[in-house]
Amino acid sequence: MQAMLKEVDRKLQPARRALGLPQSSTVRIADLASAMRRAGTPVLDFSAGRAAEATDAAICDAAVAALSAGDTHQTPARGTPAYLAACAAKLKSANGLDLDPDAEVIATMGCKQGLVLSLMATLDPGDEVIVEDPCFVSYAPTIELCGGVPIAATLSRDNGYRWSREDLGAALTDRTKAILYCSPHNPLGVVHTLEDLAVIADVATERGLFVIADEIYEAVTWHDRRHTPIATLPGMRDHAIGLMGMTKSYSMGGWRIGYAYASADVISTMVVLQQHLMTCASSIAQAAGAAALSPEITAKMAPLWQDWQARCDFVAEELDAHPALGVSPPEGGFYAWIDISRTGLTSQAFTEALLAEKSMTVVPGGTFGASTDRFIRMTAVKSWDDIREGVARMKAFADAL
Ligand code: PMP
Repeated sequence: MQAMLKEVDRKLQPARRALGLPQSSTVRIADLASAMRRAGTPVLDFSAGRAAEATDAAICDAAVAALSAGDTHQTPARGTPAYLAACAAKLKSANGLDLDPDAEVIATMGCKQGLVLSLMATLDPGDEVIVEDPCFVSYAPTIELCGGVPIAATLSRDNGYRWSREDLGAALTDRTKAILYCSPHNPLGVVHTLEDLAVIADVATERGLFVIADEIYEAVTWHDRRHTPIATLPGMRDHAIGLMGMTKSYSMGGWRIGYAYASADVISTMVVLQQHLMTCASSIAQAAGAAALSPEITAKMAPLWQDWQARCDFVAEELDAHPALGVSPPEGGFYAWIDISRTGLTSQAFTEALLAEKSMTVVPGGTFGASTDRFIRMTAVKSWDDIREGVARMKAFADAL
């Protein structure tokens, strides 16, 4: 009886694979913030990676029109012809990529789901994926859930947060199957140059590796910086898997809509996985996404993107002027990456004290990797009122240290 009970208990345990996942410290901060809100303290949130603005009304109208027209059924797993055509047209005009919408593109439920499909399509159990340290918090858990092993290769500050050939060489083994990088980078705000990409492309072509490029921030690069897809480099078309979407640049994070592009072989594998796992991206979100990518609506977004650039510059300049803080202007993306080493605090201690004393949330740099525990990340594309207030609170907090 005792033995039987034990067996039943074991069966009711969640899977070790899921139990082993680290709790995100962003969630910990969010939990603390909601406890404070429940207790009546208004908390200013600079931790979530989203802009102040809601989705543009014209994009919402396209979704309503799709609903009214009865567009409420599953779409092909690859995506609707109209959405795929809109993605391919945008990839051509904005990114210089000439892709077949019927073979080399797939609709995904946001960039994260594109990452899951691309990892499942390319990794065998135990295959290694080189990732940046620091990097987006979900990469390592997602690679592990897909059977792979993340191998962190540090982006060193002395090298302008770029991988050298030696950095990549030290991370390579016989099990390396792919390199995953993000540009514009979350959290660093770095936009990889052609030379940076050439380092990755050379290693990938020499060693026969896939390169998964997280390009979710590609539309939001600042000043003279421009995003270059690694797929445009010589010999990279069969190696590169690009992940894009509307989450960030069109404020569409709740729609769960994005797209991936790669060789026809990789995309057809992702399509079969999609058939079984999710069926398809939402029909309504695809209609909205196609509208978002149209030249008319993209042109309408341009002034807002300019304003985001001004907000990023403002936050970086204001905080960099404080003697205890250091911030380089972001080259792209949504974040100010703030060096707090002169305060003597770890990123977790700084974040928790800032929340307790100034009722504002940021993300501790240690969340993104072992090498960045003396940094914090602050979302800079909140409303002007919020960022002015947030900057004032951060300065007052640093003054008192
Ligand atoms: N990649 C990076 C680098 C991100 O910052 C985010 C959002 N925080 C995502 C992927 C997730 O994108 P999506 O919501 O489209 O899945």
